[in-house]
Amino acid sequence: MKIAILTIGNELLNGRTADTNSSFIARELTALGFRIEALMSVGDEFDAIKTRLHDLLAITDAVICTGGLGPTADDITTEAVARAFERKLVMNESVLAGLKEKFARYRLAWTDNNAKQALFPDGADVIDNPVGSAAGFALPVGGKLVFVIPGVPAETRRMLPEGVIPVLRRHFGRDSEHIFKQTIKTFGLPEAAVDAKLADVNFAALGVSVGFYPVFPENHVVLTARAASADEARMKVTKATQEVASRLEDYIFSYGEKTLEETLGEILTERKITIAVAESCTGGLIASRLTDVSGSSVYFERGVVTYSNRAKIELLGVPPEIIEKHGAVSEQTAKAMAEGVRQMAKTNIGLSSTGIAGPSGGTKEKPVGTVYIALADGNQTTCRHFAFRWDRRRNKLVSSEAALMLLLNDLQGKP
Ligand code: AMP
Ligand code: MG
Repeated sequence: MKIAILTIGNELLNGRTADTNSSFIARELTALGFRIEALMSVGDEFDAIKTRLHDLLAITDAVICTGGLGPTADDITTEAVARAFERKLVMNESVLAGLKEKFARYRLAWTDNNAKQALFPDGADVIDNPVGSAAGFALPVGGKLVFVIPGVPAETRRMLPEGVIPVLRRHFGRDSEHIFKQTIKTFGLPEAAVDAKLADVNFAALGVSVGFYPVFPENHVVLTARAASADEARMKVTKATQEVASRLEDYIFSYGEKTLEETLGEILTERKITIAVAESCTGGLIASRLTDVSGSSVYFERGVVTYSNRAKIELLGVPPEIIEKHGAVSEQTAKAMAEGVRQMAKTNIGLSSTGIAGPSGGTKEKPVGTVYIALADGNQTTCRHFAFRWDRRRNKLVSSEAALMLLLNDLQGKP
């Protein structure tokens, strides 16, 4: 079963919008065992859409299109598809009623151009949109399928698994197959090192396929198994997960979709541990990430951004001599910051960052990317030194990740 993805929109061709829908759809379908034959983007133009659709359908079994379903005149995808396959446009009364009802519910003024979103090519099956106004559709074309869903990434993300994949599986007789997927999220090892550590695992013998996905600064490992029953698929993945776990243990922070900060949130909440953060080079990113988690007020007491030496002295009580003697970017200062914020906030844990994010400010002894992360937990204060090599934005991000990972290791009693 070969599939092509056609993303539609002028904004994709002029570079204003990055085409994230293609990569999302390709990733999801590949994991399910579908083969992506081609990815293509096209502008909002009748002839171009028609030509591309025919070209792609000639070499595949299904084409999945996104974009151009809005109510405005520049969105023409539905009509272009109808013209391409010589279908009339038919008003779907129940979709129309649903649209009008939504407008009333949100107290929006109804204008007649919105009725366009209730028109579909004759013979199409409507695909519901649970998160937006534009419904999608699946159009059978001589034993093949053309899908059209909205371009808004959040809507694509919902409608692909809910509205497109079930139809694909049914159409191609794959609905008896069960698939189980497990994401294992790691931080601290480059992708090649993750791969090398897993080199001796015979995934094929376990009936599991393995994928590596770098999501900066993390590396995710995704295990997928398909089987005749859901239990069998899950068992295969569970076995493979144990193999991965025993080799990557110290670097794993999540089995599943949970983020690092969510994993931390669960542990901190359960163990009733409180935390305060003092940040320099991360500029508040650690605090921001910790508070991305709903319910974080239970464990997150405060975060202070102490960028200047004066702030470190005044707000954290860092002794001026330490900064004078060792510098603001040093193990000693990082430790004093962590201890200082812990004491001021009266929390169980104090976590700090100080470093040089770049691109300026580096010296020979302390080049750009030099970062110290310290953690004070009342028993001891530990500090780790890092030498990152990214640009400013990524140095900040990877520093926040290192800090959160240090916290996780501390909570789990790991070195
Ligand atoms: P449209 O469905 O063409 O009206 O697009 C709605 C919104 O989704 C616009 O903000 C587009 O920039 C965005 N969008 C459309 N296609 C894509 C795509 N392939 N990847 C990411 N965003 C997109
Ligand atoms: Mg558009």
